[in-house]
Amino acid sequence: MRRLPSLFVSHGSPMMALEPSPARDFLAGLGSRLPRPRAILIVSAHHDAAYQGGRATVTASPAPPTIHDFGGFPDELFAMRYAAPGDPALAARVVELLAGHGLAVTADPARGLDHGAWVPLSLIYAEADIPVVQLSIHSNASPEWHFALGQALAPLADEGVLIIGSGSITHNLRALFSARLPIDAPAPAWVTDFTGWVADRMAAGAVDDLLHAVERAPHGRDNHPTPDHILPLFAAMGAGGAAFEAERLHHSVTYGLLAMDVYAFGGK
Ligand code: ZN
Repeated sequence: MRRLPSLFVSHGSPMMALEPSPARDFLAGLGSRLPRPRAILIVSAHHDAAYQGGRATVTASPAPPTIHDFGGFPDELFAMRYAAPGDPALAARVVELLAGHGLAVTADPARGLDHGAWVPLSLIYAEADIPVVQLSIHSNASPEWHFALGQALAPLADEGVLIIGSGSITHNLRALFSARLPIDAPAPAWVTDFTGWVADRMAAGAVDDLLHAVERAPHGRDNHPTPDHILPLFAAMGAGGAAFEAERLHHSVTYGLLAMDVYAFGGK
């Protein structure tokens, strides 16, 4: 088996689980394009050490519950469950690997999978038959911290673990809720200038520029007023292996402002 790539997935609105979109179609076909992993480690933008007193955690439940961490959506979405098993042994391995790099993470035997994990996974691996472990970001920590986190996890890819960073390549919810555009609305330049810059820097292998995209990219701050949804990108980049190699697997935009880009790192 060739080495598994690491992935960055834009998870968009929770409604992606229900509403047709090009991103939904893409993710629904993605699992069959990858070597089948023995487990999945997903770094979710919605699992944040900053809201846990600075304590980074990894899910260690053998049967992680589905968390409906959103409001104002249809009952059908709240009824959805993603019943993939957990993998407490993998969680312990994550704790050990990160400790070896000076990164303190605690196993949480109770926490389940939030929508940053289960919405995309319900499309990529609809059978929910691959064990899933979810790891927190730390929105008070730097891009470099998240890149180092990914680098520390990279050996897992050689052990059949698919590492996914789940966030959003653009994420300005205030603008999104005020514009209220239809799902297929075209994106304004302040969104596509940003995603285009990221794609260009990815192709150039410009890791330092990417880690500082919020400051250096056009409209970086407009697209990421808070860093939580771009930090999983840096973890995925770090997890791709020593030689940085990025492939833009998908680009589309939902609701005009939420770009749905998916990237793969390494895996060749
Ligand atoms: Zn999100």
